[in-house]
Amino acid sequence: LFSKNEYFILILGLDNSGKTTLLEQIKTKYTKIPGLPPHKIVPTVGLNIARTQFQDIKLIYWDLGGQTQLRTIWNKFFSDVHAIIYVVDSSDKERFNESKDELEIVINDSKLKDVPLLLFFNKQDLPDSETIEYLSSVFKSVIQSCQLSNSTDQLSSLSSSSPITTRNVQLQPLIACKGEGLEQGINWLSDCLR
Ligand code: GDP
Repeated sequence: LFSKNEYFILILGLDNSGKTTLLEQIKTKYTKIPGLPPHKIVPTVGLNIARTQFQDIKLIYWDLGGQTQLRTIWNKFFSDVHAIIYVVDSSDKERFNESKDELEIVINDSKLKDVPLLLFFNKQDLPDSETIEYLSSVFKSVIQSCQLSNSTDQLSSLSSSSPITTRNVQLQPLIACKGEGLEQGINWLSDCLR
């Protein structure tokens, strides 16, 4: 399905977290076709795709839409995924736990066992957004489960029932509507995929 140096990146996150805004910024920055300006963006229903050439690699981004009824179809797309971008609205405190729970379901899927995870903490421009320090404590269980392999040797994880996981994870502050933090995140992801 994919040629060499072509990677499939899934953009996930709750509805309203900023996935579409992020993807339109990616289009503007990394393709010749400009993305939609923020005021023209409507909530994602169904698929939104961007193909980009970044230095030596082709990245294909899929935004699946975050509405509850669509979340059940996420895992239909998991088998060909090379990386996950997960977007969190840093100002939506009431939904931090819901967001973390969704992410836990995603990373526990066996088809996504080893793929890198870029965690974008979006909307850092809003005055009531939480800091990365605070958010990393909210998402601590996710981060720890990604880093399990660093702290457990193979034999001890084999003897316990817990799966062996190796996953690169990066926490990145983002202002999707301005593209701030985007480049750092995409550079990190590209380095993981190379
Ligand atoms: P999606 O449902 O995850 O695709 O989210 P959207 O991309 O549609 O964004 C949801 C809302 O958040 C829209 O009103 C966006 O303009 C807004 N939004 C997205 N990113 C940012 C950001 O970095 N800062 C602020 N202040 N608003 C943002």
